[in-house]
Parts: sequence; C-alpha cells; structure tokens
Amino acid sequence: MYDFLIVGAGFAGCTLAERLAAGLNKKVLLVDKRNHIGGNAYDYYNKDGILVHQYGPHIFHTNIKRVWNYLSLFTDWHYYQHRVLSHVDGLKVPFPINLDTVNMLFGQQISVFDLIDYFNKVVHDAGVKEIKNARDMAVSRVGNELYNKFFKNYTKKQWALLSEELAPEVTARIPLRINRDPRYFVDPYQGVPRYGYTWMFQRMVADPNIHLLLNADYKKILNEVKFDRMIYTGPIDYFFDYIHGRLPYRSLDFEFQTLHVEQFQEVGTINYPNDYDFTRITEFKHLTGQKHPWTTIIYEYPVEGGEPFYPIPKAENKELFNKYKSEAQKLKSIYFVGRLAEYCYYNMDLVIERALEVFDEIIKEKI
Ligand code: FAD
Ligand code: UDP
Repeated sequence: MYDFLIVGAGFAGCTLAERLAAGLNKKVLLVDKRNHIGGNAYDYYNKDGILVHQYGPHIFHTNIKRVWNYLSLFTDWHYYQHRVLSHVDGLKVPFPINLDTVNMLFGQQISVFDLIDYFNKVVHDAGVKEIKNARDMAVSRVGNELYNKFFKNYTKKQWALLSEELAPEVTARIPLRINRDPRYFVDPYQGVPRYGYTWMFQRMVADPNIHLLLNADYKKILNEVKFDRMIYTGPIDYFFDYIHGRLPYRSLDFEFQTLHVEQFQEVGTINYPNDYDFTRITEFKHLTGQKHPWTTIIYEYPVEGGEPFYPIPKAENKELFNKYKSEAQKLKSIYFVGRLAEYCYYNMDLVIERALEVFDEIIKEKI
C-alpha cells in the first residue's frame, strides 16, 4: 500500500518523490517505463568513457534561488556557462545576437550606441504592431534581415512549421543583447551537476520510503498496486487514452560521434540555421568539463513521431490541451506535473519549481 504512485522519474517525478518521502514520510512508488531514472536529463558514460546526455544537451540555469538551493542538496556543481555560435554567411558568430555578432557579420566596428540606433531603425522598419506569433516576436527584436539569417530557417527546421504558425513564446526564449555578453543564458545560477545528472537523481531517490520500479508502463501495473494518490508526469493525452485526439509533439533523432581528437569545436554548441538537416552540434566536454583525450559530439535532427520531446506551442494545440486539462481538474487525487503532463515548453528549473509548488499544495491539504 503506497501513499503516492508517481508516474515518471524525471525532474517532476523525482522532486516530488524526494519531497514526499523525506519531507512528509510518505510511502512512494516511483514508476518509469524507461530502464533508467532522470527522464530526459539522463546522462551516462559512453563506451569511450565520455559523459554524454542521452536525450540531448542539458544545461541547468535558473533565477529561482529556491530551485537552485533545492538541487544543491543533492549535488555540487560544475559552474559552466553555456556559449553558442551560429553558423551564418559562412561565419561562426555569437548567438544570441550581440554587438560582436553584428560587427562580425557586417564587417564593421560600431559602438553600443550605434547598435541601439541600428536596432531602433530595423525594428521600426519591420513595423510589427502587435506580436501575434514567433516571427513577430523575433522581428520586433532584431528586424527582418537578422531574423532571416538566424531565426527563419532554424525555426522551420526545428518545428516543420513557419514561425508565423507558432506562438511568440518560442522565439521569446532568445533575447537580444545590447552588449558583448557571449553567454546563452544570463541567469544568476548556471551549471551542470558535477558528477552528472544521473548521479544527482540517484541521491534524490535514495530515501528508503521510495520504491523504484523501472521498465514499467504505469497502466500495466495499475491493477496490482494500491495507492491513495497519484502524481502523473507523462503525456496527458496518453493518460486519458486520447479521448480528445492526440496532442502533437516534436521529436529529435540524435547522432553521437566520438572523435579521436581532444576538442572538436570552440564552444559548447554551434547552431546551423541555414545549412544541413540538423539544427545544432554540441560537444559534451565543454558542458561537463571532463578531461579526456577524445571527445563526443551530438547532432540533433528534428523529426515527426518518436519520443515526445517538445510540446508544440500553437493556439490550436493549447485548445486541445485545455480539454484534457478540464478532465484532469475533475480528478481530485491526481496531480498532473511537468513538461508532458502540462503540455508546456518548460525548462528544467520551472519543472522543479512546479513540483515544489505542488508539494506545498499537498502539505496544505494536510491529508
Ligand atoms: P521528463 O524528463 O520527460 O520525464 C517524464 C518521465 O515520464 C520520462 O522518464 C518517461 O519515461 C516517463 N513516462 C512517460 N509515460 C510513462 C508511462 N506511461 N509510464 C511510466 N513512465 C512514463 N531544459 C533546461 O533547463 N536546459 C536545457 O539545456 C535543456 N535542454 C533540453 C534539450 C532537449 C533536446 C530537450 C528535449 C529538452 C531540454 N530541456 C532543457 C528540457 C528538459 O528536458 C525538461 O524540462 C525536463 O526534462 C522535464 O522534466 P519532466 O519530469 O517534466 O519530464
Ligand atoms: N531559434 C532560432 N535560431 C537559433 C536558435 C533558436 O530560430 O539559432 C528559435 C527556434 O524557433 C527555437 C527557439 O528559438 O525552437 C528556442 O531555442 P532554444 O535554443 O531555446 O531551444 P531548445 O534548446 O529548447 O531546443
């Protein structure tokens, strides 16, 4: 007999399992259909001894101190700050766009003041009155020319949709920098768990109140276990047997390559908006700080079908999700938490924040 059945051992599931078990002394059954914990943040040492992220590169960054402090209970950090270059017009230039990007691309040496004038002009010329989609969002920040070079084709490749068809939040993730800051994120807390994500997750679920069951789809075990309440972190449409139809997700194929050189590229990630079928190449050793005579890189190829990695931020998908949300709200003893259950383009930190909020709600319920 368990107090909670938790479906999914990613950030949402492991955070709630840990809090309920260690914080409230609840008996928890944590189930995942995969053969490992960690969800999409799972990492492991490959056969060449290099630490890699199985489901694509994961860099932790947040401005939520509570979330950083919480994870820091289970891990030390490798204080990595991510850097990205974008391969545009045959050059590799800093991304998000900053002063150096513009100077390199246009072969000039303008000042920050000129840069502000430049963006004021191009944004005015673009004439976006109201931000209705991902194109409007990007163009209203960087103007048409830079949008065409950096955003238009990457977005089409990543989503198989035009930017005009996607919600503004997609490109809103990428700021414009009126300075020379080359970092991808500027959050005050950034890094990767020093010994890897999986090592950290193992510590999160080590409490004796947590019983872990891997390789098990929760629907297959429902008749065999008894529990009071459920926390569900898988795809919400699957939970309801697709009664309202399938929610679309975007997936990726990953190609890993280990190269017999110490370093492949100058920064963690290089984006290829306009060339090739992959969106970006990431070299793990930049992220993890690992020393090794060889190096492993990962190519990301966006695809339809496969693992549900990205909810697709689009008005009609949100409407469909809302139908499932109404169903979910009728179920008083089941909590839907995380990127798949809430059909929300969350980063890791927001998933943890959500899980901690749900934990707070559960405490208030005093059951
Ligand atoms: P998940 O990690 O997806 O965990 C859900 C778990 O539920 C899975 O393990 C799944 O196997 C399990 N499950 C599903 N259905 C069932 C079932 N029927 N029965 C049993 N188990 C089930 N975020 C960042 O902050 N920084 C990054 O750099 C970053 N990079 C990313 C790169 C890629 C390529 C992707 C796809 C995502 C990235 N993210 C990043 C987002 C991050 O992966 C998510 O925010 C986070 O992993 C979501 O955690 P979760 O627990 O909600 O879901
Ligand atoms: N994007 C782009 N060009 C880039 C990088 C990102 O147009 O070089 C857009 C694209 O639509 C992408 C979104 O910004 O889906 C968010 O990018 P981010 O790097 O945050 O995506 P993630 O890491 O979640 O895949």
